[in-house]
Amino acid sequence: MTAIYLDHAATTPVDPRVKEAMLPYFDLEYGNPSSVHRLGRKARFVIEECRERVAALIGAEPSEVIFTSGGTESDNLAVRGGLMASGRPHGVTSAAEHEAVLRPFQRLGRRGEPVTVLRPAGNGSVSVRQLEEVLQPETGLVSFMHANNEVGTLSPIAEMVELCRRNGTLMHTDAVQTAGLMPLDVGELGVDLMSASAHKFYGPKGAGLLFIRSGVDLHPLIEGGAQERRRRGGTENVPAIAGLTEALTLARQEGDEWYARILSLRRRLLNGLAAMIPGEYRLNTPQSEDQTVPGIVNLSFPPSDGHRLDGEMLLLNLDMEGVLVSAGSACTSGAVEPSHVLRAMAVPDDTAAASVRFSLGKGTTDEEIDRAIDVLTKTLRRMKRQVTA
Ligand code: PLP
Repeated sequence: MTAIYLDHAATTPVDPRVKEAMLPYFDLEYGNPSSVHRLGRKARFVIEECRERVAALIGAEPSEVIFTSGGTESDNLAVRGGLMASGRPHGVTSAAEHEAVLRPFQRLGRRGEPVTVLRPAGNGSVSVRQLEEVLQPETGLVSFMHANNEVGTLSPIAEMVELCRRNGTLMHTDAVQTAGLMPLDVGELGVDLMSASAHKFYGPKGAGLLFIRSGVDLHPLIEGGAQERRRRGGTENVPAIAGLTEALTLARQEGDEWYARILSLRRRLLNGLAAMIPGEYRLNTPQSEDQTVPGIVNLSFPPSDGHRLDGEMLLLNLDMEGVLVSAGSACTSGAVEPSHVLRAMAVPDDTAAASVRFSLGKGTTDEEIDRAIDVLTKTLRRMKRQVTA
């Protein structure tokens, strides 16, 4: 039995075309882009060509794109580097952010910097109104994710940008969960900083990008060489950059098709769950298709007859039956702690502790969805019988 992989928000397999695009830079074209000889010049040319392609795909100028080691680094650089360089001390974010954003803010807060962490509404997103209430003349940077990685909720980024602009505040968005699936135009979104990560859209792990709007100053986190316009020292990862570029190109070429397909899978999944286990779960993902990315469906199982369901055991049982899902973000799965996102959304701990995130991909089939629903239904029945026995 081959496993059914429904954890695409954690990572995706590398598309064979992406792998192909990366291969020459491991051995044939292995030069260091900083070397002046021909192999070095070739590597430099490849990177700058990738930068141009990526910039065109997100509506930016090439000088506004830097390559990083992934979403975490891009987020850290945007938050810490952006706030430090802004010359204003106050930062604003949400309690439902990925830890790559949340932790840098929390560290700044512990050091005594004024940081506001807003609690999201029950759907997982902070409202424009909430942001308006906390913006101050001293607010240097605001960071809200484009789509939440655990529940899929989209944030009203373009409207938030309006407020920030009027206040002279930088706006960063973590677009790690949307970059491959939705067309992202930094002109339309209006953000000053935007993070993305290749392994979420069929590219390699360890490859990310940060859009930095022209004129925005940023303190580097990694200093050393003059690479990436002195914003990120260190020899560039040429194969990873080539892979990210190819993956984003394919995502833009085929993304509409993937989106439509994944949306139909989401409908099938939600209908199937409603038919098979009605009333047994709480849907943490917004029901409305306009409010969420289609690929993420997050459910929790509240205690029934006073019995809590063991969330970790549920994931392991599903795994044994060949259905691979997460409890939330990959780093919290396996841990007993309920997800910080569900907590921030005021989901009770005994419910949040038994949660499943299905995340669908471009290769997911209808049959896999049907089988996953069937396995989930049987597993729940079995586990419930065991706790009440
Ligand atoms: N931000 C979000 C919303 C994510 O989902 C992730 C990965 O799960 C990250 C940041 C971190 O990205 P990376 O794994 O490339 O460091």
